[in-house]
Amino acid sequence: MQNQIDQGLLQEHEQNNVEGMENEYVDKHKQPTQIFEMGKEYFKQCHQLLAIYTALKFIAAITLITLRETIYGDEILQKNYHEIFNDAYLVFWMYISCAHSLFAFIYYIQLLMKIDNEVKCTQVVEEIGQMIVIEIPEGYTNQEREAFINDQVQIQNQEMIQRLEIDGQIEESRRISLIATEIKKTLLQNERPLNILGKGCFVLFQFIQLWGLIFYFHKKSTTESNEDLKFYSLYKGYLFSVVFMGIYQYLEIYIITLLVLIFLPILLFYSLYDWIKNYCQKRRERRRIDDSLKESMYSLQETAEGENECAICMNQYEEKDKIAILPCSNKHRFHSTCVRSWLEINSKCPLCRSDVFTLPDEIF
Ligand SMILES: [Zn+2]
Ligand SMILES: [Zn+2]
Repeated sequence: MQNQIDQGLLQEHEQNNVEGMENEYVDKHKQPTQIFEMGKEYFKQCHQLLAIYTALKFIAAITLITLRETIYGDEILQKNYHEIFNDAYLVFWMYISCAHSLFAFIYYIQLLMKIDNEVKCTQVVEEIGQMIVIEIPEGYTNQEREAFINDQVQIQNQEMIQRLEIDGQIEESRRISLIATEIKKTLLQNERPLNILGKGCFVLFQFIQLWGLIFYFHKKSTTESNEDLKFYSLYKGYLFSVVFMGIYQYLEIYIITLLVLIFLPILLFYSLYDWIKNYCQKRRERRRIDDSLKESMYSLQETAEGENECAICMNQYEEKDKIAILPCSNKHRFHSTCVRSWLEINSKCPLCRSDVFTLPDEIF
């Protein structure tokens, strides 16, 4: 029934803007694909469950905090807040977890409200390309029109499923969850503040999770007198359920993080090794070049010997230029910087083409 109303609302007459066809109206029927409807339903179910879960978490935390405050009241003020792992900090953890639950609840409810909003939902459908648009030929009776729409919808639904299966056969449940993910992504893209709230909640929860784990595995020292032991165990029970459910909720992300943590050192080690290898090779090459060059300062007095122009950069030598002579001939000389960059890519003398590195150093 709800579906039919939705479809009815989406039926609209749209002006066709193609040039030359102005003022002509085309009867169009629009409706989301079946797979979208299923994905949307799945998305809603997931977020309803999450909203209920966070609401329960919030209520439990608030109850525990209020009970403790009302029963112990002033005693808490005299508590020693020095040691980071004493139960006073467990109370801080409770407050933060409580606040997080509230924010997360608002986030999930907002998401549910957005997807239930007709305009926003239509926008999402169009953005992820799940809108069926049917142009209805003129002159159909109502009955014919309906039959035509039904046929077309069926055909296009089938086409959509085939299009989604281009990368191989995928199960229907996987397809639905893919669409649900797509819906969430698109919805958040259009709603910046909600996106920020969601990301903030996620980061805060990872912090709560880590802190909770530290608490959970920390053994309480027995020497400490613990008046509110009853509440302490209740708090720990709450903490355990939050941490456990959190691990379950983000299992995929944690596994990926774990893999990254394992492989990152290997990757870093490898790139460091690569860098060192490269550096050593460069150094060796530079030394090889150093060994094969005879360097001196250019002075105008020695013009008789060799070229007076660098064959690499075609510039005349000037007084005090740094000159390098290659082992092939005393006359084969160049700017030191020019010939060095030349030898890095080419081992032959630019003038006589003889290999600089294999020549015996008989000239020197
Ligand atoms: Zn030069
Ligand atoms: Zn030469």
